[in-house]
Amino acid sequence: MIIFKNSNDLYTYLARQKTAGFRTGFVPTMGALHAGHISLVEQCHQSNDLVICSIFINPTQFNNAVDLEKYPVTLEADIDKLEKAGCDLLFMPSRQEIYPEGFTFRQYPLGYLEQILEGKYRPGHFQGVCQVVHRLLDIVRPHQLILGEKDFQQCHVLKKLIEILEIPVDVVIHPTVREQDGLAMSSRNLRLNIDQRKTAPLLFNGLSKLAQVINGNNDSLVESSIRELNNLGFKVDYLVIADAETLLPPGNETARKVILAAAYLGEIRLIDNIVLN
Ligand code: AMP
Repeated sequence: MIIFKNSNDLYTYLARQKTAGFRTGFVPTMGALHAGHISLVEQCHQSNDLVICSIFINPTQFNNAVDLEKYPVTLEADIDKLEKAGCDLLFMPSRQEIYPEGFTFRQYPLGYLEQILEGKYRPGHFQGVCQVVHRLLDIVRPHQLILGEKDFQQCHVLKKLIEILEIPVDVVIHPTVREQDGLAMSSRNLRLNIDQRKTAPLLFNGLSKLAQVINGNNDSLVESSIRELNNLGFKVDYLVIADAETLLPPGNETARKVILAAAYLGEIRLIDNIVLN
C-alpha cells in the first residue's frame, strides 16, 4: 500500500494509472477503522483495479467541538487493517492540504435535505460533508465512490452533490455492518463506556421491533418506540418512518420505506436505520 500525504502527488500518480487503463474505486473515511469500513474496501476491490482509501477527520462537518476533539484516532491500526484488506493507496492529508489558505468554502444548494433529520439536529454538518467530499473527489477523480448505508441521509446528500456538480462517478451503497448484538459499527462506539455499550444495541432492537409491526397509521407506534428508548436511557433526537427515496413522510407514491433514528447515550450520538422491503 502506498501512502500519500500530498494531493498533487496522488493526483499525478492516479492520472498515470487511469491513462494506463486502471479502474479506480474510492472509500473516504475519518479513520478509527472497523469491519464496516473494511467491508467497503472489500466491496471496492470487486469492481476496481485500484482501491483508494482516505483518512481525514474533517473539521468542517463537526457541529460540536467536543465531538471533534474526542473523535477516536487509531492510525497505526488503521494502516495495518487497510494493508490486510488489500487497499492499494491511502491518502492521509493534513488539514492544510485539504483546506489551504485562501480556500473558498462554497455553499451547496442541498435544499430540504439539509433541513431535515440529521440536517436539522446538526446544522451545517452536510455542508461540511459536501466540502470535503467535493475536495477529495477533485483530487482522486475515481470511477466509483463507495458509501455506507449506515449514513443513509449522507448517501442522499452526496448523490445530490454529485448531481449538482455533474461529477462523472458511479456511487455504490454498501449495507450496514453490525456487531453480533446488532449495534451498527461506528468509530464513535469506541467512546461508549461499559454500561452504554450494553445499552447501545437496544437502538437497533427498537427499530427492528417497530419494523415488524408498522402498518398504515404508525404515529402512535413511533411515539411508543421513542418513549421506550428514552426509558432505556437514550435521549432520542428523532425516530421517523420516511420514504426511502425522498426521506420525507411516506405517501401514496412511496415504494420503499426506511426507519431512521438518532439518539444520544450520554454524550455519544448514535444513528441507525432499517430499510423496509
Ligand atoms: P466515517 O469514517 O464514519 O466517515 O465513515 C466512512 C464511510 O464508512 C462512510 O461511507 C460510512 O457510511 C461508512 N460506514 C461507517 N460505518 C459503517 C458500517 N457500520 N457499515 C457500513 N458502512 C459504514
